[in-house]
Amino acid sequence: MTFKTIIEPFRIHSVEPMHLTTPAQRKRAIQAAGYNLFNVRAQDVLIDLLTDSGTGAMSRDQWAAMQHGDESYAGSPSFEIFRDAVTDLFPFSHVIPTHQGRAAEKILFGALGGAGQIVPNNTHFDTTRANVEFTGATAVDLVIAEGRDPASRHPFKGNMDVAGLDQLLTEHKSVIPCVMLTITNNSGGGQPVSLANIRETSQVCRKHGVPLILDACRFAENAWFIHEREPGQGERAVRDIVREIASLADGMTMSAKKDPMGNIGGWLALNDDALAEQCRTLLILTEGFPTYGGLAGRDLEALAQGLKEAVDHDYLKYRIASTAYLGEALAESGIPVVQPIGGHAVYLDARALLSHIDPLQYPGQSLAVALYVMGGVRGCEIGTVMFGRQPDGTEIPAAMELVRLAIPRRTYTQSHIDYVIEVCQAVAAEAGSLRGYRISKEPKALRHFTAEFQPID
Ligand SMILES: *Cc1c(COP(=O)(O)O)cnc(C)c1O
Repeated sequence: MTFKTIIEPFRIHSVEPMHLTTPAQRKRAIQAAGYNLFNVRAQDVLIDLLTDSGTGAMSRDQWAAMQHGDESYAGSPSFEIFRDAVTDLFPFSHVIPTHQGRAAEKILFGALGGAGQIVPNNTHFDTTRANVEFTGATAVDLVIAEGRDPASRHPFKGNMDVAGLDQLLTEHKSVIPCVMLTITNNSGGGQPVSLANIRETSQVCRKHGVPLILDACRFAENAWFIHEREPGQGERAVRDIVREIASLADGMTMSAKKDPMGNIGGWLALNDDALAEQCRTLLILTEGFPTYGGLAGRDLEALAQGLKEAVDHDYLKYRIASTAYLGEALAESGIPVVQPIGGHAVYLDARALLSHIDPLQYPGQSLAVALYVMGGVRGCEIGTVMFGRQPDGTEIPAAMELVRLAIPRRTYTQSHIDYVIEVCQAVAAEAGSLRGYRISKEPKALRHFTAEFQPID
């Protein structure tokens, strides 16, 4: 007998109030925020799906582990507990804690980047790209063609284009300091990379003598997709799959605000002794001593415990099923979403839903604002607002106009998600009456965080 209700594999131990507001209050709040959801106060949001980064709920055992934290400046036992939890899954020789993923990237590319260098990736996350480019190097995205098509149902749309990578390495390997592989592929819709593809990518890197570095933020969700979808992997434990993935790489950067269930944290792990020493020196300049990086001892302990919980099968089954539950319900009600549903988020296709709004009048922004005003649900535009402004000052439509609904880990229940589904349906029913926006004020770079908008009559 199987039942269709998704049971959250935890019960609630400590509660946080949610803030109920009326549509009239939200209309005032969004107007005061210049129609930018990043400017809205969190108290004015009912269900916050802006990001899954650092917004998850810690477990009872993580809070208990925090009490065990040792705040010694050097040689803290909390570091050893953290390092052992990391190397249990990712047996790299050197583990260097940082305050978040981007700090690990800054240090790695501080050592490996520089003008004229090229860094390939399936798809660079925005901070990864920014940290590569900040050193003067070029960031190249080499995801398979299916990964750029929202309607393609390829089971591993995050896969690297291995032939393209081989060609790039053949032509330019002297200026390629490392190859990155992002699991799951966040900017590409939270899509996984298959184990077969990781093996092939690793083989190509080893053939050319170039290290492979994982951007492993959602390694557990990626391993679960391998367990569920890849022939021959269904009998393996997720932790085994993760260990094999680690054995195929030479290091990793990590945001512990994602799968490791932390509210803050990250790390850089490497096998190369000389590179690790160079990175530790940079770490001391910007983050702190190598046994705490940018973190408190108590944070290291919470992450060590979170890593154990991240690879639990009951948790992962619930996690992926609950994301799919939202996505499939929207698709069934005729709302266009990126397929297949990814691990940490559902992406609404605003270009398809609001085809009457010109891309340069930001259909994704219009949809995100409507979800907020109608239901207090905060998502994030991933479209022309985020990517449209070019370095030469011109503006062109982004490849896709999406609104991302990212699901914080263990935070919302099925009734919250049912409410989100209703709000999306109500907005979709009125899609024809939604209007575009124009930007009234924008900064020079990363405009989506602070730009202000005006509705177009
Ligand atoms: C979040 C994220 C990062 C950056 O990590 P922060 O902890 O936010 O600095 C890097 N890569 C990917 C794929 C991410 O999702």
